[in-house]
Amino acid sequence: MNAALNIPLVDLHAQYESIKSEIDSAISQVIKESGYIKSRFVGEFEKSFAALLGINHCIGCANGTDAIEVVLRALGVGQGDEVIVPAHTWISTSEAVTSVGAKVVFADTTSDYFTINPVDVQKKITSKTKAIIPVHLYGHPAPMNKIMEIAKQHKLFVIEDCAQAHLAEFQGKKIGTFGDAATFSFFPGKNLGAYGDAGGIVTNNEELSTLCRRICDHGRAGKHDHSLEGRNSRLDGLQAAILNAKAPHLHKWTELRRSNAKKFNQALSGLSLVLPKEDAECKHVYHLYVIQVENREAVSEKLLQKGIHTGVHYPRALPNLTAYSYLNHSPSDFPVATEVTSKILSLPLYPELSDKQIDYIAQSLKSIL
Ligand SMILES: *Cc1c(COP(=O)(O)O)cnc(C)c1O
Repeated sequence: MNAALNIPLVDLHAQYESIKSEIDSAISQVIKESGYIKSRFVGEFEKSFAALLGINHCIGCANGTDAIEVVLRALGVGQGDEVIVPAHTWISTSEAVTSVGAKVVFADTTSDYFTINPVDVQKKITSKTKAIIPVHLYGHPAPMNKIMEIAKQHKLFVIEDCAQAHLAEFQGKKIGTFGDAATFSFFPGKNLGAYGDAGGIVTNNEELSTLCRRICDHGRAGKHDHSLEGRNSRLDGLQAAILNAKAPHLHKWTELRRSNAKKFNQALSGLSLVLPKEDAECKHVYHLYVIQVENREAVSEKLLQKGIHTGVHYPRALPNLTAYSYLNHSPSDFPVATEVTSKILSLPLYPELSDKQIDYIAQSLKSIL
């Protein structure tokens, strides 16, 4: 075995080193133009990100959580409405629902792909249901054909939470282009990440796009012309310029994530753990490479002793958190989400991960299991 390496869960500096001159010149250009707020950098990023997805409109905003909240508000979802979200996701998805005054309704997830279970979604629909927010968790697309079918049947809005799934595809079509709107996060560790908080909304609906843009910018329709009360949730000029520098690399980085995942799949096959799966109809972009193991805490502790940092995304299903105790759920209401959250372990996986590092992680896991 190799001598001990030190492998972080995410290595943002390795990526910076690979494109240092592009990033440095992007940042200095913003400073040169004082293009901090609503500058050309923001418009350029919105255009190029919309083009990457093949969608008509992209609205930059302050972060991926705001993005969900703004879309819900623009769609008129609020008090008295219910919104169905997966039991296993990052809390932003449900938080945004509460923020607009609507009620969070959880649906269980599937054990194969960790995404929302359409059968449970169907069961949770009431006369108050207004929207479904599928999450393409870890970079694996949710079953959008079934979600869209249910939404059509019950006249519900669909907002795709794409925070972890830039450029993922379902049946050959980019995720983010199925629902009424989709939201992205450009948090530094995401597949396309800024150097601070940043987010975006995409849609093909022009009216919805105009309304989202106004809400993000104090309700402004024009200078000193406020058509409604909005908020301040704009994409910052520096972050937009950094994203402009990074966006042209996203296809290449996505393929590297996928090939690194394949290398892990091969190196880890036959061990007593469950590997992440990729549905034949989907293109997984491996924001996270999540295995399932018994004795997770012991395994992660032993990996750490070998210099390998892991994570758990996320250790508790949302309905089991204190924040949602007011819903009076028991863990058995969401058996799959509760079960998988006790076993999942995220291994380091990023485009810059070397074969040597992958081999070291695999050999270490072998010796531990
Ligand atoms: C990161 C993330 C968000 C929120 O993004 P922020 O930019 O951090 O606000 C929303 N949903 C999911 C699933 C995420 O992973």
